[in-house]
Amino acid sequence: MVLRVYNTLSRSVEGFEPVRGKRVRMFVCGPTVYDFSHVGHARTYLAYDIIARYLRARGYSVFYIVNITDIDDKIINRANASGEDPLLLADKFTKDFFRDMEALGITSVNLYAKASEHVPEIIDQITTLIGNGHAYQVDGDVYFDVSKFPEYGKLSRQNIEQLSVHRIDPDSRKRNVVDFALWKSQKPGEPAWDSPWGKGRPGWHIEDTAITTTYFGPQYDIHGGGLDLVFPHHEAEIAQAEAATGVKPLVRYWLHGGLLNIAGERMGKSIGNFVTIQDLLKRHDPEALRLYYAMRHYRTQLEFDEGGVAQAEEVLDKLRSVYNQFKSLLEGSDTTDEKSVDEDIKRLTTVAMEGFVVAMDDDFNTPRALATMITYAKDIEPYANRKLGEQSLGLIVRTFDYFGEVFGILRPLNVRQGKTFEQLLGVVLQIREDARKRGDWKTSDAIRDHLKSIGIGLEDTSRGARWYLASAKS
Ligand SMILES: [Zn+2]
Repeated sequence: MVLRVYNTLSRSVEGFEPVRGKRVRMFVCGPTVYDFSHVGHARTYLAYDIIARYLRARGYSVFYIVNITDIDDKIINRANASGEDPLLLADKFTKDFFRDMEALGITSVNLYAKASEHVPEIIDQITTLIGNGHAYQVDGDVYFDVSKFPEYGKLSRQNIEQLSVHRIDPDSRKRNVVDFALWKSQKPGEPAWDSPWGKGRPGWHIEDTAITTTYFGPQYDIHGGGLDLVFPHHEAEIAQAEAATGVKPLVRYWLHGGLLNIAGERMGKSIGNFVTIQDLLKRHDPEALRLYYAMRHYRTQLEFDEGGVAQAEEVLDKLRSVYNQFKSLLEGSDTTDEKSVDEDIKRLTTVAMEGFVVAMDDDFNTPRALATMITYAKDIEPYANRKLGEQSLGLIVRTFDYFGEVFGILRPLNVRQGKTFEQLLGVVLQIREDARKRGDWKTSDAIRDHLKSIGIGLEDTSRGARWYLASAKS
């Protein structure tokens, strides 16, 4: 079976072949940290989180980088408006971004690379581009000379002259109207770094290629980001990197995610019609948001609907309930004498695994893969009453663990809610244990009943109490 992905560069579905065998180098455009992240960002980062998780589950070794744009006009404008220091403002929202990613269970990223921590690499790349005639200096600014890169436009396949009138700042000092800034000279009150062209700061596009060239070299496998970044951002990345290194193509597979609309308009900070991740997570389980997005293919445009997240929460409850039943059965199981896996279980599991892989191999078709998982849960649930042995139960639990790992769901409660939860529960269980020791069964039972009412089941074993996630409704 071959993994196939839709590549924006070729506008077609292609067989996936990384540059170096099973090693995958993957980069996704990160946030510009001038405000809280919203559910549109969540959709983007969750999509690539699942892609990275699936690639790993399929045996690839993935090095996944997301950059953090912490130097930018938007940050400076926002900081000036509120009288804050731009670098401190960016730092504050970077921390919020990390907190959001953690809350959403986005654990696949190997490196978050901040622009502010890669200024020397950025200066090096600009110096190379000036040296080989692809960039030029005007006063303290440096621009990329688009006329020296005839392939400019190969990713977006658009009429650059027409677009640039609207999308690119006209500046009479530029050689061509489509030329874009690599380095911007310092204006009063702006953060700045020393450079061969005087004090200033990097342009937006150059940070990505300086970072990827540093960690991946001149060519890598996957570049992701929202569809709105194709032009000019990704087009500029190709021009910069290919002009600087001479290696083509910079990226083998450009995987662009569909945009998220709200009330018919694109969700965006600049429009002000956004729902922040933190707000949404006050009302919904993070894993429900993961499922809500996984129910749609990552390349489709989507109208955000919070009712849909609530529906996903019901699906999640059902999956958890089936999973937890079998997990409890396995943990309580003492039937080691089962000779081989039950035939029905073997058949249902094989069908589910195959269906899942076929779906995910088809350009990461998560809606179909998720449907396979849901069908599996329905088919397997009746077997909870049929006294399966350890091998059968183990296969079922491992299968759920595999699906859960790819989608980032069915995580243990302590992982989902952070360490605090686990510690707090430890304190409660200790109080109950002390009560049991002095024969205070009333307190011990009351604690068990209270925990049950909030969805935490307890089982007393010879090694002390074991807790597990039960459905709060049951
Ligand atoms: Zn980017």
